[in-house]
Amino acid sequence: MHRIGMMGGTFDPIHYGHLVAAEGARHRFQLDKVIFIPAGHPPHKSGRQITGAHHRWIMTELAVASNAYFDTSTLEVDRPGYSYTIDTVGEMRRLYPGTELFFITGADAVLEILGWKQVDELLSMCHFIAATRPGYPLGNLKRRLAGIAADQIRQITSMEVPALAISSTDIRRRVGEGRPIKYLLPEPVESYILNRGLYR
Ligand code: ATP
Ligand code: MG
Repeated sequence: MHRIGMMGGTFDPIHYGHLVAAEGARHRFQLDKVIFIPAGHPPHKSGRQITGAHHRWIMTELAVASNAYFDTSTLEVDRPGYSYTIDTVGEMRRLYPGTELFFITGADAVLEILGWKQVDELLSMCHFIAATRPGYPLGNLKRRLAGIAADQIRQITSMEVPALAISSTDIRRRVGEGRPIKYLLPEPVESYILNRGLYR
């Protein structure tokens, strides 16, 4: 294994926006695989009630099943306390020594990186890929990166992906209002949500 992509997120629920970004990164950076890592207790999402980790991990499993390059990890959901990306990347480096790591994010999340715990160290541990996302112009990213050292900026690459204005927030709202979520996320995930009565 030479190059591994990781995609972190709440995945509440996982949708085609996540999957398109991950597949685009896999192809562009010739990743041997992409591992989806649902967050256990995200420090920045404490404002709302997050669906149980077990449900979110199962939905992630269902979503990646049709892609031989995709896998999931329970690294964060098994770890007690808040999920910090730096700890996850550190653990991944121990699990895959000598492997180049790529952390895949959307254009919104990469902006948050700059506010994350130990950002300097994080940028020295793995590459970051910022997938375009409707509503989050990459110009903002360039501006925010202005204060960061050049060798660290090189660790961040932006990547154009087909624009999907899909968000988990919108999907949860749709379910709550009885509106369709079909074609926004993989069918097995849709069935799981409806069968388990999630987001109602
Ligand atoms: P929520 O609305 O609950 O915040 P979300 O749709 O933003 O959910 P997250 O689990 O927060 O999904 O995001 C995980 C990662 O996927 C983040 O890096 C985010 O930027 C990225 N991402 C989410 N949706 C898209 C999308 N439509 N296009 C590109 N990247 C996306
Ligand atoms: Mg989000």
